[in-house]
Amino acid sequence: MKEYHVLSLSGGKDSTALAFFIRENMPEAHEQIEYVFCDTEHELPETYEYLDKIEVFLDKPIERLKPYKSFEHLHELHGYLPSITRRWCTVEMKTKPFRKHIYDKFLKNEEAPVNLYIGIRADEAHRASSDKSDGNYIKAVFPFVENGLNGRDINNILEKSGIGLPEYYKWSKRSGCYFCFFQSKITWINLYENHPDLFKRAMELETPRIKEGGFGWNMDISLEEMIKPENIKKQDLRKVEKIHKKETS
Ligand code: SF4
Repeated sequence: MKEYHVLSLSGGKDSTALAFFIRENMPEAHEQIEYVFCDTEHELPETYEYLDKIEVFLDKPIERLKPYKSFEHLHELHGYLPSITRRWCTVEMKTKPFRKHIYDKFLKNEEAPVNLYIGIRADEAHRASSDKSDGNYIKAVFPFVENGLNGRDINNILEKSGIGLPEYYKWSKRSGCYFCFFQSKITWINLYENHPDLFKRAMELETPRIKEGGFGWNMDISLEEMIKPENIKKQDLRKVEKIHKKETS
């Protein structure tokens, strides 16, 4: 029976390492696999550069899926910024376009199963739930969990393949939107220092919401406040503390 193989790349290290792991260890799947990337159109420039590099290293194209409405449009429709408790962004900008793509490309005319490869590591196996599968047609596959691979193995795969880490790893550990509310304050400050234009754009989205009494990207501080010199200094101190803790632990 015909089967399809799909890997959704996030622009982060785990899903990238999985693509190389599959190439080295699962040649049949690699032969047929399709790579997709759900582009929110608000990713970091380093992410887009990394995706271009992945295409070159794997010698395969990555299909870039766009949301059916822009973030700005969706933001207007919802009337508030996405947040941890009201996370409409992932559903609208990633899950829906991805599900639609899978349906249109693989399931609409021919109901052959789709193996969906997911880069969850063995140390986070609790996240590898069957929820990621969908009825009889989408089957989630977790090669890192199945092979007991953890963080260090993932770094080794990337190093061995020659692609290394995404450039943004120098100042952020997260892939995804530059305005993601999940990022730490240190990462926000790093965004301000590395991409002041993107930080400004995040502020432009936030300031009107705060003025009308709503929430910003962070519950406790606006971006405008955050970049006041005394607050940047506080964040820098925390950064030093964190590094110190890491080195002494
Ligand atoms: S990266 Fe953050 S802001 Fe972007 S879609 Fe995901 S949760 Fe939402």
